[in-house]
Amino acid sequence: MKRRAFITSAAAAGAGGLAITGTSPAQSADRGKGPDRQPLGFTLTWLGVNGWWVSFDNTTFLVDPWVSRYTTGTFSPEGQDPDTKITWDRARIERTFDRPAEGILITHGHFDHISDIPFAATKTGAAIWGTESHLNLVRSLGLRAGHPVDETKLSLLRGGEEKNFPEYTVRVLRSVHRPFGPRQISGTAQSRTTVEPAVERISELGEGGSLIYVITNSRGKQLMILGSADFSVSDLPSSCPDAVIFPTAGASVAPFVKRFGNLIGTPQSIIASHWDNFDLPLQPPTDVGNVAALREAARSVMPRTRVIQPVPHAPIHI
Ligand SMILES: [Zn+2]
Repeated sequence: MKRRAFITSAAAAGAGGLAITGTSPAQSADRGKGPDRQPLGFTLTWLGVNGWWVSFDNTTFLVDPWVSRYTTGTFSPEGQDPDTKITWDRARIERTFDRPAEGILITHGHFDHISDIPFAATKTGAAIWGTESHLNLVRSLGLRAGHPVDETKLSLLRGGEEKNFPEYTVRVLRSVHRPFGPRQISGTAQSRTTVEPAVERISELGEGGSLIYVITNSRGKQLMILGSADFSVSDLPSSCPDAVIFPTAGASVAPFVKRFGNLIGTPQSIIASHWDNFDLPLQPPTDVGNVAALREAARSVMPRTRVIQPVPHAPIHI
């Protein structure tokens, strides 16, 4: 029977985090790295939505660090109110971003990914990685919040970069944002070419391109980080990653998992991300991303892959 990898709060709290290590004997792989159950050497801590602390070797990165959470209507029958004002929960920001980080990896420019970055960058001392549009939005948010970003910490990406550090490498892939609904409508994905100090509403934070990050640590293990449930079919990773931070896609998760399996392969672990209703408090998270469907799809397409559903703020050791 496939081991269930849901981590309970009690277990995580009691253990001070949970080691996710394999117990099943190695068998021949159908494709990719499924049977390899060696510890990968990454520690992942979920902050809600697509926000993560990612630690490995002696390095920590933040991914899409948004913790402010406010009501947008996104998951209501009426849908998202594009005029929702961007606000900041300063107390939660202070509590959350409480340690140094090497960099903040932006996957795309939507409000639920980048709004808190001016504060998170200052608190952690991190560089900010993103496209020209992402960086212009972060600059704009910093001015709006009265918290300008440090220009010397901005790292411009286009997708296609490989950054080599002494112990690890980060490869940046061009990506795409998943389309919405049965007609597969894509957002307008506007790019911000100027800094706008009056930025105020969530609709002003456009996608501005999407990026995927693949970190290879000193053990040669690879973690792939997605920002929405999609990837560019013409910008695939050079090999199947060992683990994937995998945003769910609600009703459309099954074809996405199938496409991932067909084009990229079978990772050892996928960690469900961006599945919580961010209009509601994070504790406890309310699943609107259909993690059960993700599990079911993975079971049929990549049966040796472990699906991990994170508990907020509980470190996962993979
Ligand atoms: Zn999002």
